[in-house]
Amino acid sequence: MFYKSTRSSEPAKFSAAQVIKQGLAEDGGLFVPASLPTFSADELQALCKDTYPVRAAKVLSKFLTDYTYEELLADCQEAYDEKSFVGGAAPLVNVHDNFYSLELWHGPTAAFKDMALQIMPRLLSRALVKTGEERTALILVATSGDTGKAALEGYRDVDRVKIMVFYPVDGVSHVQKLQMATQTGSNVNVCAIRGNFDDAQNGVKVIFGDAEMAEKLNEKGYFFSSANSINWGRLAPQIVYYVSAYCDLLNSGKCKVGENFNVCVPTGNFGNIFAAYLAKEMGVPIGHMICASNTNNILTDFLRTGTYDRNREFYLTMSPSMDILISSNLERLLYFTAGSEKTAAYMDALKKNGVYSVDADTLEKIQKNFSGYFTNEDDTAKTIHETYEKYGYLADTHTAVAIHAAKAYVEETGDSRPMVIDSTASPYKFANNVYRAVTGKDPSSELEALDELSRVTNTEIPYPLSGLATRKVNFEAVVDRTEMAKAVLEYIQA
Ligand SMILES: *Cc1c(COP(=O)(O)O)cnc(C)c1O
Repeated sequence: MFYKSTRSSEPAKFSAAQVIKQGLAEDGGLFVPASLPTFSADELQALCKDTYPVRAAKVLSKFLTDYTYEELLADCQEAYDEKSFVGGAAPLVNVHDNFYSLELWHGPTAAFKDMALQIMPRLLSRALVKTGEERTALILVATSGDTGKAALEGYRDVDRVKIMVFYPVDGVSHVQKLQMATQTGSNVNVCAIRGNFDDAQNGVKVIFGDAEMAEKLNEKGYFFSSANSINWGRLAPQIVYYVSAYCDLLNSGKCKVGENFNVCVPTGNFGNIFAAYLAKEMGVPIGHMICASNTNNILTDFLRTGTYDRNREFYLTMSPSMDILISSNLERLLYFTAGSEKTAAYMDALKKNGVYSVDADTLEKIQKNFSGYFTNEDDTAKTIHETYEKYGYLADTHTAVAIHAAKAYVEETGDSRPMVIDSTASPYKFANNVYRAVTGKDPSSELEALDELSRVTNTEIPYPLSGLATRKVNFEAVVDRTEMAKAVLEYIQA
Protein backbone atom coordinates (compact mmCIF):
# COMPACT_ATOMS: atom_id res chain seq x y z
CA MET A 1 0.00 0.00 0.00
CA PHE A 2 1.43 3.35 -1.06
CA TYR A 3 0.37 6.90 -0.27
CA LYS A 4 0.14 10.19 -2.16
CA SER A 5 -0.82 13.81 -1.59
CA THR A 6 -4.46 14.94 -1.86
CA ARG A 7 -3.26 17.75 -4.15
CA SER A 8 -1.07 15.79 -6.53
CA SER A 9 -1.87 13.64 -9.57
CA GLU A 10 1.44 11.82 -9.34
CA PRO A 11 1.25 8.09 -8.61
CA ALA A 12 1.48 7.03 -4.97
CA LYS A 13 5.05 6.26 -3.89
CA PHE A 14 5.30 6.84 -0.14
CA SER A 15 5.26 3.99 2.37
CA ALA A 16 3.15 4.19 5.53
CA ALA A 17 6.32 4.61 7.63
CA GLN A 18 7.38 7.56 5.47
CA VAL A 19 4.03 9.34 5.72
CA ILE A 20 3.82 8.80 9.49
CA LYS A 21 7.30 10.24 9.92
CA GLN A 22 6.74 13.16 7.52
CA GLY A 23 3.18 14.13 8.51
CA LEU A 24 2.33 16.59 5.74
CA ALA A 25 3.07 16.20 2.00
CA GLU A 26 5.59 18.63 0.50
CA ASP A 27 2.95 20.39 -1.61
CA GLY A 28 0.94 21.15 1.55
CA GLY A 29 -1.59 18.38 0.87
CA LEU A 30 -2.51 15.51 3.19
CA PHE A 31 -1.39 11.94 2.63
CA VAL A 32 -4.01 9.44 1.43
CA PRO A 33 -3.74 5.76 0.45
CA ALA A 34 -3.73 5.11 -3.30
CA SER A 35 -6.81 2.92 -2.94
CA LEU A 36 -9.02 1.76 -0.09
CA PRO A 37 -8.73 -1.83 1.11
CA THR A 38 -11.99 -3.65 1.81
CA PHE A 39 -13.37 -6.14 4.29
CA SER A 40 -15.41 -9.10 3.07
CA ALA A 41 -18.54 -9.94 5.07
CA ASP A 42 -16.73 -13.04 6.37
CA GLU A 43 -13.72 -11.03 7.51
CA LEU A 44 -15.98 -8.60 9.35
CA GLN A 45 -17.79 -11.44 11.05
CA ALA A 46 -14.53 -13.03 12.11
CA LEU A 47 -13.55 -9.73 13.80
CA CYS A 48 -16.60 -10.02 16.05
CA LYS A 49 -14.87 -12.70 18.09
CA ASP A 50 -11.72 -10.62 18.58
CA THR A 51 -10.72 -8.25 21.36
CA TYR A 52 -10.31 -4.55 20.57
CA PRO A 53 -6.49 -4.72 20.22
CA VAL A 54 -6.79 -7.60 17.73
CA ARG A 55 -9.51 -5.78 15.78
CA ALA A 56 -7.20 -2.75 15.69
CA ALA A 57 -4.19 -4.72 14.47
CA LYS A 58 -6.25 -6.37 11.72
CA VAL A 59 -7.65 -3.05 10.48
CA LEU A 60 -4.27 -1.31 10.61
CA SER A 61 -2.55 -4.16 8.80
CA LYS A 62 -4.68 -3.38 5.72
CA PHE A 63 -3.14 0.09 5.53
CA LEU A 64 0.31 -0.22 7.11
CA THR A 65 1.62 -2.97 4.85
CA ASP A 66 5.27 -2.13 5.61
CA TYR A 67 4.63 -3.10 9.27
CA THR A 68 4.34 -6.78 10.14
CA TYR A 69 1.12 -8.02 11.72
CA GLU A 70 3.16 -9.06 14.78
CA GLU A 71 4.50 -5.50 15.16
CA LEU A 72 1.03 -4.02 14.89
CA LEU A 73 -0.48 -6.52 17.28
CA ALA A 74 2.23 -5.88 19.89
CA ASP A 75 1.71 -2.10 19.60
CA CYS A 76 -2.08 -2.35 19.75
CA GLN A 77 -1.97 -4.64 22.76
CA GLU A 78 0.21 -2.14 24.62
CA ALA A 79 -1.75 0.90 23.44
CA TYR A 80 -5.23 -0.41 24.27
CA ASP A 81 -4.26 -2.31 27.42
CA GLU A 82 -7.03 -2.66 30.00
CA LYS A 83 -4.95 -0.76 32.55
CA SER A 84 -4.97 2.34 30.32
CA PHE A 85 -8.48 1.89 28.96
CA VAL A 86 -10.50 0.97 32.01
CA GLY A 87 -13.83 -0.55 30.97
CA GLY A 88 -12.63 -1.22 27.40
CA ALA A 89 -11.24 0.85 24.56
CA ALA A 90 -14.51 1.76 22.83
CA PRO A 91 -17.55 0.33 24.64
CA LEU A 92 -20.96 0.76 23.01
CA VAL A 93 -23.58 1.80 25.57
CA ASN A 94 -27.33 1.96 24.96
CA VAL A 95 -28.67 5.43 25.83
CA HIS A 96 -32.32 4.85 24.91
CA ASP A 97 -34.28 3.02 22.19
CA ASN A 98 -31.87 2.60 19.29
CA PHE A 99 -29.48 5.43 20.27
CA TYR A 100 -26.06 4.10 21.29
CA SER A 101 -23.12 5.97 22.76
CA LEU A 102 -19.71 4.86 21.46
CA GLU A 103 -17.57 5.86 24.44
CA LEU A 104 -14.15 6.86 23.16
CA TRP A 105 -12.90 8.39 26.41
CA HIS A 106 -11.84 5.47 28.58
CA GLY A 107 -8.15 6.16 27.95
CA PRO A 108 -5.48 7.90 30.04
CA THR A 109 -6.68 11.50 29.49
CA ALA A 110 -10.44 10.83 29.45
CA ALA A 111 -10.96 12.17 25.92
CA PHE A 112 -11.12 10.59 22.48
CA LYS A 113 -7.71 11.91 21.32
CA ASP A 114 -6.29 8.96 23.30
CA MET A 115 -7.72 6.51 20.75
CA ALA A 116 -5.15 7.75 18.21
CA LEU A 117 -2.44 9.21 20.43
CA GLN A 118 -1.89 6.00 22.37
CA ILE A 119 -0.95 4.09 19.21
CA MET A 120 0.54 6.68 16.83
CA PRO A 121 3.74 7.32 18.85
CA ARG A 122 4.50 3.60 18.73
CA LEU A 123 3.95 3.61 14.97
CA LEU A 124 6.28 6.62 14.67
CA SER A 125 8.96 4.95 16.76
CA ARG A 126 8.91 1.97 14.37
CA ALA A 127 8.77 4.30 11.34
CA LEU A 128 12.11 5.79 12.39
CA VAL A 129 13.71 2.34 12.30
CA LYS A 130 12.00 1.41 9.02
CA THR A 131 13.18 4.59 7.27
CA GLY A 132 16.77 4.28 8.56
CA GLU A 133 16.46 7.40 10.74
CA GLU A 134 19.09 7.33 13.45
CA ARG A 135 18.20 10.54 15.23
CA THR A 136 15.61 10.97 17.99
CA ALA A 137 12.34 12.72 17.08
CA LEU A 138 11.59 15.79 19.20
CA ILE A 139 7.85 16.44 19.14
CA LEU A 140 6.84 20.05 19.81
CA VAL A 141 3.22 20.77 20.68
CA ALA A 142 1.41 24.04 21.32
CA THR A 143 -1.83 23.34 23.12
CA SER A 144 -4.93 25.10 24.32
CA GLY A 145 -5.41 22.21 26.76
CA ASP A 146 -6.59 18.79 25.70
CA THR A 147 -4.26 17.82 22.87
CA GLY A 148 -1.15 18.59 24.93
CA LYS A 149 -2.08 16.23 27.71
CA ALA A 150 -3.14 13.46 25.31
CA ALA A 151 0.15 13.83 23.40
CA LEU A 152 2.19 13.75 26.64
CA GLU A 153 0.50 10.53 27.71
CA GLY A 154 0.88 9.01 24.24
CA TYR A 155 4.59 9.75 23.80
CA ARG A 156 5.52 9.10 27.42
CA ASP A 157 8.38 6.58 27.61
CA VAL A 158 8.17 5.71 23.89
CA ASP A 159 11.55 4.79 22.43
CA ARG A 160 13.42 7.25 20.13
CA VAL A 161 11.03 10.10 20.82
CA LYS A 162 10.96 13.08 23.17
CA ILE A 163 8.11 15.53 23.59
CA MET A 164 7.86 19.14 24.75
CA VAL A 165 4.51 20.85 25.26
CA PHE A 166 3.92 24.62 25.48
CA TYR A 167 0.69 26.04 26.86
CA PRO A 168 -0.52 29.60 27.55
CA VAL A 169 -0.16 30.12 31.31
CA ASP A 170 -3.58 31.77 31.67
CA GLY A 171 -5.20 30.17 28.63
CA VAL A 172 -6.05 26.70 29.94
CA SER A 173 -8.40 25.57 32.68
CA HIS A 174 -7.18 24.78 36.20
CA VAL A 175 -7.84 21.08 35.64
CA GLN A 176 -5.94 21.08 32.34
CA LYS A 177 -2.99 22.90 33.93
CA LEU A 178 -2.83 20.37 36.76
CA GLN A 179 -3.05 17.48 34.31
CA MET A 180 -0.02 18.74 32.41
CA ALA A 181 2.05 19.97 35.36
CA THR A 182 1.78 16.57 37.07
CA GLN A 183 2.79 14.60 33.94
CA THR A 184 5.25 11.76 34.50
CA GLY A 185 7.68 10.06 32.09
CA SER A 186 11.39 10.05 31.25
CA ASN A 187 11.10 11.79 27.87
CA VAL A 188 8.57 14.56 28.51
CA ASN A 189 8.77 18.29 29.19
CA VAL A 190 6.07 20.88 29.82
CA CYS A 191 6.52 24.64 29.72
CA ALA A 192 3.99 27.43 30.26
CA ILE A 193 4.43 30.64 28.31
CA ARG A 194 3.36 34.18 29.11
CA GLY A 195 0.95 34.83 26.24
CA ASN A 196 -2.13 33.30 24.65
CA PHE A 197 -2.60 30.14 22.58
CA ASP A 198 -1.75 31.93 19.32
CA ASP A 199 1.55 33.08 20.83
CA ALA A 200 2.36 29.49 21.79
CA GLN A 201 1.38 28.17 18.35
CA ASN A 202 3.29 30.87 16.48
CA GLY A 203 6.31 30.25 18.69
CA VAL A 204 6.29 26.58 17.79
CA LYS A 205 5.86 27.38 14.07
CA VAL A 206 8.84 29.76 14.16
CA ILE A 207 11.00 27.11 15.84
CA PHE A 208 9.93 24.49 13.25
CA GLY A 209 10.97 26.82 10.42
CA ASP A 210 14.29 27.96 11.94
CA ALA A 211 17.23 26.41 10.02
CA GLU A 212 19.72 27.31 12.74
CA MET A 213 17.61 25.48 15.34
CA ALA A 214 17.39 22.44 13.06
CA GLU A 215 21.18 22.42 12.75
CA LYS A 216 21.66 22.65 16.53
CA LEU A 217 19.24 19.75 16.99
CA ASN A 218 20.96 17.72 14.33
CA GLU A 219 24.32 18.11 16.09
CA LYS A 220 22.74 16.64 19.19
CA GLY A 221 21.13 13.77 17.27
CA TYR A 222 17.58 15.14 17.14
CA PHE A 223 15.08 16.32 14.53
CA PHE A 224 11.72 18.06 14.89
CA SER A 225 8.46 16.22 14.33
CA SER A 226 4.82 17.04 15.04
CA ALA A 227 1.87 15.21 16.56
CA ASN A 228 -0.57 16.91 14.23
CA SER A 229 -4.11 15.60 13.84
CA ILE A 230 -3.73 15.49 10.04
CA ASN A 231 -1.04 12.81 10.29
CA TRP A 232 -2.22 9.55 8.72
CA GLY A 233 -0.89 7.79 11.83
CA ARG A 234 -3.60 9.52 13.84
CA LEU A 235 -6.39 8.96 11.35
CA ALA A 236 -5.99 5.24 10.55
CA PRO A 237 -6.50 4.08 14.18
CA GLN A 238 -9.84 5.92 14.25
CA ILE A 239 -11.31 3.64 11.57
CA VAL A 240 -11.05 0.77 14.05
CA TYR A 241 -13.79 1.83 16.46
CA TYR A 242 -16.41 2.02 13.71
CA VAL A 243 -15.57 -1.54 12.71
CA SER A 244 -15.66 -2.43 16.40
CA ALA A 245 -19.05 -0.74 16.92
CA TYR A 246 -20.53 -2.82 14.08
CA CYS A 247 -19.13 -6.00 15.67
CA ASP A 248 -20.62 -5.03 19.02
CA LEU A 249 -24.03 -4.33 17.44
CA LEU A 250 -23.89 -7.77 15.81
CA ASN A 251 -22.70 -9.48 18.98
CA SER A 252 -25.54 -8.00 21.01
CA GLY A 253 -28.13 -8.84 18.36
CA LYS A 254 -29.02 -5.18 17.78
CA CYS A 255 -28.04 -5.44 14.11
CA LYS A 256 -28.20 -8.36 11.68
CA VAL A 257 -25.33 -9.12 9.32
CA GLY A 258 -25.14 -6.42 6.66
CA GLU A 259 -27.90 -4.30 8.24
CA ASN A 260 -27.15 -0.57 8.19
CA PHE A 261 -26.57 1.72 11.15
CA ASN A 262 -26.06 5.50 11.16
CA VAL A 263 -23.36 7.44 12.97
CA CYS A 264 -23.40 10.93 14.46
CA VAL A 265 -20.05 12.57 15.26
CA PRO A 266 -19.30 15.77 17.19
CA THR A 267 -16.91 17.30 14.71
CA GLY A 268 -14.07 19.81 14.77
CA ASN A 269 -11.25 19.00 12.41
CA PHE A 270 -13.37 16.42 10.48
CA GLY A 271 -10.92 13.65 11.41
CA ASN A 272 -13.23 11.49 13.47
CA ILE A 273 -16.15 11.58 11.03
CA PHE A 274 -13.85 11.05 8.05
CA ALA A 275 -12.68 7.83 9.69
CA ALA A 276 -16.35 6.72 9.66
CA TYR A 277 -16.48 7.44 5.92
CA LEU A 278 -13.38 5.28 5.37
CA ALA A 279 -14.94 2.46 7.41
CA LYS A 280 -18.04 2.67 5.22
CA GLU A 281 -16.00 2.62 2.01
CA MET A 282 -14.16 -0.44 3.36
CA GLY A 283 -17.41 -2.36 3.70
CA VAL A 284 -18.76 -1.60 7.19
CA PRO A 285 -22.54 -1.19 6.66
CA ILE A 286 -22.76 2.43 7.78
CA GLY A 287 -25.83 4.20 6.42
CA HIS A 288 -25.82 7.96 6.88
CA MET A 289 -23.20 10.10 8.66
CA ILE A 290 -24.39 13.08 10.69
CA CYS A 291 -21.85 15.82 11.23
CA ALA A 292 -22.64 17.63 14.49
CA SER A 293 -21.25 21.12 15.16
CA ASN A 294 -21.66 23.70 17.93
CA THR A 295 -22.30 27.41 17.26
CA ASN A 296 -19.19 27.39 15.08
CA ASN A 297 -21.32 25.82 12.36
CA ILE A 298 -19.10 26.23 9.30
CA LEU A 299 -19.44 22.51 8.46
CA THR A 300 -23.24 22.59 8.75
CA ASP A 301 -23.32 25.39 6.20
CA PHE A 302 -20.87 23.57 3.94
CA LEU A 303 -22.81 20.32 3.94
CA ARG A 304 -26.04 22.16 3.19
CA THR A 305 -24.83 24.63 0.54
CA GLY A 306 -21.48 23.41 -0.78
CA THR A 307 -19.79 26.67 0.24
CA TYR A 308 -17.06 26.63 2.87
CA ASP A 309 -16.62 30.17 4.15
CA ARG A 310 -14.30 30.88 7.05
CA ASN A 311 -14.97 34.64 6.92
CA ARG A 312 -17.24 34.57 9.95
CA GLU A 313 -17.34 35.20 13.65
CA PHE A 314 -15.58 32.76 15.97
CA TYR A 315 -17.39 31.70 19.17
CA LEU A 316 -16.04 30.26 22.42
CA THR A 317 -18.43 27.51 23.51
CA MET A 318 -18.74 24.91 26.26
CA SER A 319 -17.58 22.29 23.73
CA PRO A 320 -14.16 23.92 23.10
CA SER A 321 -12.63 21.01 21.18
CA MET A 322 -15.04 21.84 18.35
CA ASP A 323 -14.35 25.58 18.34
CA ILE A 324 -12.66 25.51 14.96
CA LEU A 325 -12.93 27.39 11.66
CA ILE A 326 -10.55 25.28 9.58
CA SER A 327 -11.51 21.61 9.35
CA SER A 328 -8.28 20.32 7.85
CA ASN A 329 -9.37 16.74 7.31
CA LEU A 330 -12.26 17.81 5.07
CA GLU A 331 -9.57 18.01 2.38
CA ARG A 332 -9.34 14.23 2.40
CA LEU A 333 -13.08 13.88 1.73
CA LEU A 334 -12.80 16.38 -1.14
CA TYR A 335 -10.00 14.30 -2.59
CA PHE A 336 -12.00 11.06 -2.51
CA THR A 337 -15.07 12.80 -3.91
CA ALA A 338 -13.69 15.28 -6.45
CA GLY A 339 -10.10 14.16 -7.14
CA SER A 340 -6.74 15.87 -6.66
CA GLU A 341 -7.05 18.64 -9.26
CA LYS A 342 -10.25 20.14 -7.86
CA THR A 343 -9.05 19.61 -4.29
CA ALA A 344 -5.90 21.61 -5.00
CA ALA A 345 -8.01 24.42 -6.52
CA TYR A 346 -10.44 24.50 -3.56
CA MET A 347 -7.57 24.61 -1.05
CA ASP A 348 -5.90 27.37 -3.05
CA ALA A 349 -9.11 29.43 -2.96
CA LEU A 350 -9.45 28.81 0.78
CA LYS A 351 -5.92 30.07 1.37
CA LYS A 352 -6.35 33.14 -0.84
CA ASN A 353 -9.92 34.20 -0.04
CA GLY A 354 -10.98 32.10 2.94
CA VAL A 355 -13.82 30.59 0.90
CA TYR A 356 -14.53 27.98 -1.79
CA SER A 357 -17.62 26.35 -3.32
CA VAL A 358 -17.65 22.79 -4.60
CA ASP A 359 -19.45 21.98 -7.86
CA ALA A 360 -22.98 20.53 -7.89
CA ASP A 361 -21.85 17.00 -8.68
CA THR A 362 -19.40 16.94 -5.77
CA LEU A 363 -22.00 18.35 -3.37
CA GLU A 364 -24.54 15.74 -4.41
CA LYS A 365 -22.06 12.93 -3.78
CA ILE A 366 -21.18 14.34 -0.36
CA GLN A 367 -24.84 14.79 0.62
CA LYS A 368 -25.57 11.16 -0.22
CA ASN A 369 -23.39 10.25 2.76
CA PHE A 370 -23.39 13.25 5.09
CA SER A 371 -25.83 15.70 6.71
CA GLY A 372 -24.86 18.63 8.90
CA TYR A 373 -26.67 19.79 12.05
CA PHE A 374 -25.58 22.22 14.75
CA THR A 375 -26.52 22.64 18.40
CA ASN A 376 -26.47 25.98 20.22
CA GLU A 377 -25.33 26.47 23.83
CA ASP A 378 -28.82 26.38 25.34
CA ASP A 379 -29.75 23.15 23.60
CA THR A 380 -26.41 21.60 24.58
CA ALA A 381 -27.12 22.24 28.28
CA LYS A 382 -30.76 21.12 27.92
CA THR A 383 -29.67 17.90 26.23
CA ILE A 384 -27.25 17.08 29.07
CA HIS A 385 -30.05 17.72 31.57
CA GLU A 386 -32.71 15.73 29.72
CA THR A 387 -30.48 12.80 28.81
CA TYR A 388 -29.56 12.45 32.46
CA GLU A 389 -33.06 12.96 33.90
CA LYS A 390 -34.90 10.76 31.37
CA TYR A 391 -32.39 8.01 30.67
CA GLY A 392 -29.80 8.23 33.48
CA TYR A 393 -27.02 8.78 30.94
CA LEU A 394 -24.45 11.45 31.76
CA ALA A 395 -23.09 13.06 28.58
CA ASP A 396 -20.29 15.58 28.27
CA THR A 397 -20.80 18.83 26.34
CA HIS A 398 -19.40 17.51 23.01
CA THR A 399 -21.44 14.33 23.22
CA ALA A 400 -24.55 16.40 23.98
CA VAL A 401 -24.03 18.44 20.82
CA ALA A 402 -24.11 15.15 18.89
CA ILE A 403 -27.12 13.68 20.73
CA HIS A 404 -29.14 16.79 19.92
CA ALA A 405 -28.02 16.71 16.27
CA ALA A 406 -28.90 13.03 15.96
CA LYS A 407 -32.40 13.72 17.30
CA ALA A 408 -32.89 16.60 14.89
CA TYR A 409 -31.85 14.33 12.02
CA VAL A 410 -34.25 11.56 13.03
CA GLU A 411 -37.12 14.03 13.47
CA GLU A 412 -36.47 15.59 10.08
CA THR A 413 -36.00 12.37 8.11
CA GLY A 414 -37.78 9.62 10.03
CA ASP A 415 -34.69 7.46 9.47
CA SER A 416 -35.03 4.86 12.24
CA ARG A 417 -31.88 2.78 11.76
CA PRO A 418 -29.71 2.27 14.88
CA MET A 419 -27.78 5.46 15.66
CA VAL A 420 -24.22 5.24 16.96
CA ILE A 421 -23.24 8.53 18.60
CA ASP A 422 -19.57 9.19 19.23
CA SER A 423 -19.02 10.19 22.85
CA THR A 424 -15.71 12.06 22.71
CA ALA A 425 -15.05 13.07 26.32
CA SER A 426 -15.83 11.93 29.81
CA PRO A 427 -18.41 14.21 31.46
CA TYR A 428 -15.76 14.81 34.15
CA LYS A 429 -13.44 16.39 31.61
CA PHE A 430 -15.93 19.27 31.43
CA ALA A 431 -17.38 18.82 34.92
CA ASN A 432 -18.01 22.54 35.39
CA ASN A 433 -20.56 22.86 32.61
CA VAL A 434 -21.97 19.37 33.03
CA TYR A 435 -22.66 20.01 36.73
CA ARG A 436 -24.32 23.31 35.85
CA ALA A 437 -26.49 21.66 33.19
CA VAL A 438 -27.55 18.79 35.45
CA THR A 439 -28.28 20.80 38.62
CA GLY A 440 -28.92 24.33 37.38
CA LYS A 441 -26.39 25.53 39.98
CA ASP A 442 -22.77 26.71 39.84
CA PRO A 443 -20.15 24.38 41.34
CA SER A 444 -17.99 25.76 44.19
CA SER A 445 -14.97 25.87 41.91
CA GLU A 446 -13.73 24.26 38.72
CA LEU A 447 -11.78 21.63 40.64
CA GLU A 448 -14.56 21.03 43.19
CA ALA A 449 -16.95 20.45 40.30
CA LEU A 450 -15.55 16.95 39.83
CA ASP A 451 -16.37 15.81 43.36
CA GLU A 452 -19.69 17.64 43.33
CA LEU A 453 -20.73 16.04 40.03
CA SER A 454 -19.74 12.65 41.40
CA ARG A 455 -21.84 13.15 44.54
CA VAL A 456 -24.92 14.44 42.72
CA THR A 457 -24.96 11.75 40.00
CA ASN A 458 -23.48 8.91 42.03
CA THR A 459 -20.96 8.16 39.27
CA GLU A 460 -17.23 7.68 39.58
CA ILE A 461 -14.52 10.16 38.56
CA PRO A 462 -12.37 8.35 35.96
CA TYR A 463 -8.84 7.54 37.11
CA PRO A 464 -7.05 10.12 34.89
CA LEU A 465 -8.94 12.92 36.64
CA SER A 466 -9.20 11.72 40.23
CA GLY A 467 -6.95 13.07 42.96
CA LEU A 468 -5.46 15.68 40.62
CA ALA A 469 -4.95 18.21 43.39
CA THR A 470 -2.77 15.87 45.44
CA ARG A 471 -0.46 14.69 42.65
CA LYS A 472 3.17 15.76 42.56
CA VAL A 473 3.83 18.77 40.35
CA ASN A 474 6.78 18.02 38.06
CA PHE A 475 6.73 21.07 35.78
CA GLU A 476 6.54 24.66 36.96
CA ALA A 477 8.53 26.58 34.33
CA VAL A 478 6.96 29.71 32.87
CA VAL A 479 8.86 31.55 30.14
CA ASP A 480 8.33 34.55 27.88
CA ARG A 481 7.26 33.68 24.35
CA THR A 482 10.63 34.96 23.13
CA GLU A 483 12.38 32.32 25.26
CA MET A 484 10.69 29.24 23.79
CA ALA A 485 13.61 28.29 21.53
CA LYS A 486 16.01 28.63 24.45
CA ALA A 487 13.81 26.35 26.54
CA VAL A 488 13.86 23.72 23.77
CA LEU A 489 17.68 23.83 23.52
CA GLU A 490 18.03 23.60 27.29
CA TYR A 491 15.79 20.53 27.28
CA ILE A 492 18.07 18.66 24.88
CA GLN A 493 21.15 20.20 26.44
CA ALA A 494 22.32 21.87 23.24
C1 LIG B 1 -10.81 16.73 19.16
C2 LIG B 1 -12.17 16.56 19.73
C3 LIG B 1 -13.33 16.58 18.93
C4 LIG B 1 -13.29 16.84 17.44
O1 LIG B 1 -12.72 15.78 16.72
P1 LIG B 1 -12.26 15.99 15.21
O2 LIG B 1 -11.55 14.75 14.83
O3 LIG B 1 -11.33 17.19 15.26
O4 LIG B 1 -13.47 16.25 14.41
C5 LIG B 1 -14.56 16.38 19.54
N1 LIG B 1 -14.66 16.20 20.87
C6 LIG B 1 -13.58 16.19 21.68
C7 LIG B 1 -13.76 16.01 23.15
C8 LIG B 1 -12.29 16.35 21.14
O5 LIG B 1 -11.23 16.34 21.96
